[in-house]
Amino acid sequence: MTNKELIEKAKEMTKRSYVPYSHFHVGAALLCSDGSVYTGCNIENSAFGVTICAERVAIFKAVSEGKTDFEKIAIMGGRDGVIEDFCPPCGSCRQVMTEFGDLKKFKILLANAEDEIKEYSLEEILPMSFGKERL
Ligand SMILES: [Zn+2]
Repeated sequence: MTNKELIEKAKEMTKRSYVPYSHFHVGAALLCSDGSVYTGCNIENSAFGVTICAERVAIFKAVSEGKTDFEKIAIMGGRDGVIEDFCPPCGSCRQVMTEFGDLKKFKILLANAEDEIKEYSLEEILPMSFGKERL
């Protein structure tokens, strides 16, 4: 699976977002080490605190299917489903990624409307993280 294909899957998932409050659609596509892909979209709730991001939906779907070895995740998002700028993951999703993704090997892919792709390691977007190795 190429980065471009994974990004396309993330973009496609923005159409499934349930976002009646923010109207900010986000899609994610997670590539596991065995080649399988799990996707997610953000799902809002009238009780805002239980809203969940697309990235965590994809990760939790994978974990619930027995997958915990991940290579990369593509994330796309934009207001009213229109992709313009890069859509980086929130702090909560970065923390969840540290539970399953290797800090140096796990990659986060972001793309904008001009098809520019940015690739970061988990360590780059979450320096000095708190992970299971500290417990
Ligand atoms: Zn998030």
